[in-house]
Formats: sequence, structure tokens, C-alpha cells
Amino acid sequence: MSNKLIVLMLDGVSADYLLTESGRLPHLSALSKRGFQIDRLHAEVCGTSLPGRVSMLTGAKADVSGVYGNKIWDGASFRYATPYDVRVPTIPGRAKAAGKTVAVMGFGMVRLEDADIYMPPWWVGTFIQRARDAAPIPSEQGWLKIIQHQNHHPHFVSTMQAAGLPVTLPQMPAATPGERFLFGIASDQAMFNWVGALAASQDGPDLIFAEVLVTDTLQHYSGYKSEQAHWSVQYVDSLVGLVVERLRLAGKVDEYNIAVMSDHGHSPIDQALRPEVIIPNATFCSEGSMLHVVPKDADELAQIEAALAPFGVTRYTSAHVPADFRKQVVTFAAPPRTSFEHEQENPERLPLMKPNAVSSHGLKPGEPGDDRFAIFAGPDVPPGKIGEADAVQIAPTFATLLGLGTSDFMAPPVFATAQA
Ligand SMILES: [Zn+2]
Repeated sequence: MSNKLIVLMLDGVSADYLLTESGRLPHLSALSKRGFQIDRLHAEVCGTSLPGRVSMLTGAKADVSGVYGNKIWDGASFRYATPYDVRVPTIPGRAKAAGKTVAVMGFGMVRLEDADIYMPPWWVGTFIQRARDAAPIPSEQGWLKIIQHQNHHPHFVSTMQAAGLPVTLPQMPAATPGERFLFGIASDQAMFNWVGALAASQDGPDLIFAEVLVTDTLQHYSGYKSEQAHWSVQYVDSLVGLVVERLRLAGKVDEYNIAVMSDHGHSPIDQALRPEVIIPNATFCSEGSMLHVVPKDADELAQIEAALAPFGVTRYTSAHVPADFRKQVVTFAAPPRTSFEHEQENPERLPLMKPNAVSSHGLKPGEPGDDRFAIFAGPDVPPGKIGEADAVQIAPTFATLLGLGTSDFMAPPVFATAQA
């Protein structure tokens, strides 16, 4: 057993995309060919980014992990979830407690204390602070702590100096949208360069978690399978190749298991409902096609339900909300190919508009568009392929590959290790 693992998360690459466009993705295809593929890895509820990450990290369902949306209700308001909202142990935390070395290269939702080498996600400042809302929501203390972290870890610094790589994110302007986009894709590339160089180093970390974001952004605003989206998925496929090639150059391909997957899928959206027009006085927060509402009383809930009904919006269970807030947070789901949005200007106060995000996720649970791909390859991964798996099976699979116990996870791993 190598007991070493690299986890690479490619944001928003759907199961359907990989199943229909693998010809564009030679590096993922090569990993799949020598490894194990899950065709349809179902999304967490909700199928949005922070729940997707936390599910990978914990193996717990959202009502137990505490992160059921990008924003969660804290009893007073909806605010962005932070790594310090995760209520159960994470894979990096478990690995570190077991004496393993852990590196986190920009993977959201891991606490600083759960890694030896920690590079904050490049998007924390932009995505979390500016948000996608008309009125910015201030960063929570948990994210501020992470933004302020400077990675000066001696092994990281000496490794990058030896590899001829920088030790900071690209130093470039990020004032205009174009500059910010370029900073984002250069930062995604920097993270995967660091992953490859760390894994190729002497005494490389036992566990490395990393992620790239560009695929999600471009699909949202250019469209599912748009030319821009195709470019973005091919770009991150080449970044996966960069990691593997750095391992190969160092003769360490057989030293690491690699897991590559997404946090959720993506699929076309035709129309966007505007809750600020339909239920203007309610306290609400949207997650893709799902809407969380905190009504003041039964009368207000009845009014909200009646106002949403003409748009095909129906009540959905709040079983994904932790028990301590489940009675307060009422969940609604939009019809197919419809999302909730409230960040665009809406001077005419239209209840239904063309969507800003023409491809999205966080659909009504069970919709196949939210399914994502997952591929495992490496010395301890048995070759194989399965049609589907549940989100909760991923963390115990990581635990198996790391040689950690799996008995306290709620679901079994996807496979037994090759030599086990
Ligand atoms: Zn995402």
C-alpha cells in the first residue's frame, strides 16, 4: 500500500460531460483507463459548491456536516458557510491526527489547523467577499482567518525554489473582469503546479487536496457545452496532466493514488425566478434551483407557498438542514431548467427573467444534471467502472486509500484497495 493520495477537484464538470466529451479530455481518459471510474457520482443536497466540497471531506450528509448550502442559516441570517461551520471530522483532519502530512492547495472548506502546508483558495477574497449579490455579504471570521494566512512552510518554499516555481499566487492586476479572469486561470494553474511539485519532492505529503474553479465560472456565464466551456474543461484536463507528468518525471507515478472529481454537475438553465419580486418581504436564500426560506409564522409560510406556486415552485423536504435549524428553514424547489437568481439588476421588477447563469447546478435533488464524474487511479486502485455512487461514499474511499479506518463512516467505500 502506498497510502498516499492526491485529490483534484475540478469544479462543475458533470457526469454527462465526461460521458459525451471524453475525446476532448485525454488526461482524464488516461487515468480512467488505468483506474476506476464512477460514471454518475450523485451530488450532495444541495448540489452547490460548498456542500459538494464538505461532502468529499467528511462523508457525512449535509444535515450532519452542517453545510447544506453555500449559505447557511445561523438563527439570525443566511451567511456563507466557512470551514469552521463543518461539524464533523474531515479527511485532512483525520489524516493529520493519524500522523500523516497534509497539504491543502486552495481547496475550500478545510480548516487551517487540519493541514501542515496550507495555501488559501485564491477565490476566497473575490467569491466570498464580493459574492454574487447586489449587496455584498461581509466575510465571516472563519474566512478572514484563512485569507490572512501566509504559506511560508519551509518544505513548500524549498520545494518550489528547487523546482523553479514561485511561492505566491501570480502577482498580476485583477481590477477589470478580464484581469480577474486571467488571475483566476493563472491561479488554478499555480495550484496544480504546486501539487505536482510537492508530490514529486523528497518526503512529499501523504495527502494533497487541491481544486480548480474556471470550469464552473465559464459554464455559468457562457453556457453548458459552449465553446468557452469546452475550452475550460480541456484546460483543467491539461492541468491534471501537469500533475501526472511532474510525478512521472520524478519517478513517483506509483507512489501516489490520484482521485479526480467534481463537486456537482452543470446543465442548461432557461429561466430565472426572482424571489425578491415574488416574495419581497420574506427572508430567503437561493441555492441554484432550490430556495431556503425562513418564514415568521404559519401565515407567512402559507402566503409564500401561494406566491411561489404559480411558477411551478413546490415545497421540498428540509431533511438536509441540521436538526437544530430544520424547523425554521423551509425548502422549495423550482421546476426543471429553472433557477433562482437575485444578483442582476431588475428595474422592471419582473418575477421571471432570462437567467444570468445560463448553465447551473443545485437542481431539485435527483435531477441527473447535478451528477458529476469521479476517477481514481494509482497503485492501490483496482481497475473498474461503476454506473453510480452516492456522495457519502467518497470520503470513506479516500480513508481506505490513506490506510485510515472506515468504520465510523455512514457508507462503505466505493471499492476495496487493490492489495487489500
Ligand atoms: Zn462548484
